[in-house]
Amino acid sequence: MSTEHTGGSGSEAGTGRAGSADGPPMVEVRGVHKSFGALDVLRGVDLRVRTGEVTVVLGPSGSGKSTLLRSINHLEKLNRGYVAIDGELIGYRRSGSTLHELKEREVLKQRLHIGFVFQNFNLFPHLTVVENIIEAPVSALRRPRRAAVEQARALLERVGLADKADAYPRQLSGGQQQRVAIARALAPEPKVLLFDEPTSALDPELVGEVLDVIKDLARSGTTMIVVTHEIGFAREVADTVVFMDEGVIVEQGPPAELLDRPRHTRTKAFLSKVL
Ligand code: ADP
Ligand code: MG
Repeated sequence: MSTEHTGGSGSEAGTGRAGSADGPPMVEVRGVHKSFGALDVLRGVDLRVRTGEVTVVLGPSGSGKSTLLRSINHLEKLNRGYVAIDGELIGYRRSGSTLHELKEREVLKQRLHIGFVFQNFNLFPHLTVVENIIEAPVSALRRPRRAAVEQARALLERVGLADKADAYPRQLSGGQQQRVAIARALAPEPKVLLFDEPTSALDPELVGEVLDVIKDLARSGTTMIVVTHEIGFAREVADTVVFMDEGVIVEQGPPAELLDRPRHTRTKAFLSKVL
């Protein structure tokens, strides 16, 4: 069944390629509303992330951060507004001023370009590390198995787990599992990586090894949106820090501005609790 809703107000999603500072953004979230029954969880969210930039999203529990990430790769249907990645509408096609939802198969194809790293790793428990990583490339992208394995080994090298290719998830620490999850998210060569509290489920001593991998990705120009409570990470890595509360972006800016000179009382109150 196709749901319909009105797209953004007037202006079209960009059709050109992102990449330059003045081009269209890699990720564009425009006027997004999402409710669950009577609960308005996203109440008009606008966000733009340029190619190669890292955006960190902060906000209290229940403010809509996970719903925003899930809306970006169309794990949630939107009530209003739209999301575009590299100029392409996600989850919908436009016809006049109406958006029609794409078929699941088409959405799955789009999702390959949007890597998602969950709080709880979500590795396939019955597959080895290397099998986890090649799953999407082989079954969805139809890459030859041999090439996919070769790429998986290179990714494992990159996340510091070259010796764990044939281990099963249960044999790994949480930090190692999350690094495998990052390698798996990278395998389809996504245009953007979304992280939903990637270190929140980890024992404190394992947080650093995961943040180091994410920092390395940031340095190499991966476009990312990271929901986290790690303020030090935000300060060091983010190009833009976004503060969300009650389904809206209250304010956003470079870390030095938002973290050290927040303008809104709600941002100040939140930061005074977490800093
Ligand atoms: P955050 O990630 O910032 O903690 P969430 O996006 O998970 O916030 O949730 C925002 C609000 O939406 C919460 O009140 C949550 O209970 C509610 N919510 C999230 N998903 C659903 C759902 N599938 N059905 C009903 N309510 C939901
Ligand atoms: Mg959440």
